Amino acid sequence: MITPIETAWEPDLWHKELRTAIRSSVELLRFVGLDPSATAALPLLRQAEQDFPTLVPRGFAARITPGNANDPLLLQVLADAEENRTVAGFTADPLQENAAAPAPGLIQKYQGRALLITTTGCAVHCRYCFRRHFPYAAHRPSLHAEALAELQADASIREVILSGGDPLLLEDTALLTLLQQIGEIPHIKRIRVHTRIPIVLPQRITAGLLDVLRQSPVPVVMVVHANHAQELDAHTGRALTQLAGVVRFLLNQAVLLKGINNSVTSQIALCETLFTQGAQPYYLHMPDQVAGTHHFYLDDADAQPIYHGMQAALPGYLLPKLVREIPGDTAKNLLAF
Ligand SMILES: *Cc1c(COP(=O)(O)O)cnc(C)c1O
Ligand code: SF4
Repeated sequence: MITPIETAWEPDLWHKELRTAIRSSVELLRFVGLDPSATAALPLLRQAEQDFPTLVPRGFAARITPGNANDPLLLQVLADAEENRTVAGFTADPLQENAAAPAPGLIQKYQGRALLITTTGCAVHCRYCFRRHFPYAAHRPSLHAEALAELQADASIREVILSGGDPLLLEDTALLTLLQQIGEIPHIKRIRVHTRIPIVLPQRITAGLLDVLRQSPVPVVMVVHANHAQELDAHTGRALTQLAGVVRFLLNQAVLLKGINNSVTSQIALCETLFTQGAQPYYLHMPDQVAGTHHFYLDDADAQPIYHGMQAALPGYLLPKLVREIPGDTAKNLLAF
């Protein structure tokens, strides 16, 4: 059992954590006690970083086991020579998000729910990211007026999902303004926040942010993103426990990733640890066929025994739904075996 720490973070610590984050694979390898010069593929890692730069907060890197080149946290954030390879079937926008945008920065695929791109950045760069090729330039947050007008005009939308980029990179005042602008639209009944920040930058969960969330005119549902129990430590314990006190539901989504969490024991440990920190498993996503991420890919036959093992060992309320996104479908696809 991980005991949450009690001391409060200074309001500004998260900005400093971002400024001092690790920004190259050489720096990351050194930080975790691996010798960059022993990595023959270094030029290829640098090539991969040109497309999608390295970004890892030091607090997250500190959870990597020093000296372990196969650490499940390291593999999520360290550039890989495989990213440069073109593989048939793996494309820049397999989910066709670009086609589903009624206004710049707004994506609507499902009835009643619309997703707003709130920022163009994240606090970490996950190498498997499905939005690593997202044309953020065309969805700049400065275009929010148009997206808000669209939300206002469409009374069928009951829930707005703040996504990103990571919405918790917004300053408190900007986030509060957004929650108020959206929450005051009469047909909007709830706001969902999709964020990896409580996991990778828990210092962001300040007293000020908790106040902002409390002031939302409509209930907030928060969906965090952790893939492995080792990502959850005393700092995330504190952040998640506090968030659980101010949001209606605190949920987690994970991605099933080859070499990182594709085992029954790893998945059970993740779900059990999320429970101790106040979060409930929501979705376990099958990886998408995104260019540059083929080395993480798993198919249904790989997932089946893992999910069976989870079903046997976990109470129903700690079992995430195993889903795959199929472009054009009316909802995420439930994999039922
Ligand atoms: C996944 C997703 C949602 C949310 O789906 P839920 O099943 O409600 O969690 C909404 N919009 C888009 C574009 C999505 O990709
Ligand atoms: S936090 Fe989410 S959107 Fe950002 S890089 Fe990671 S997976 Fe992608």
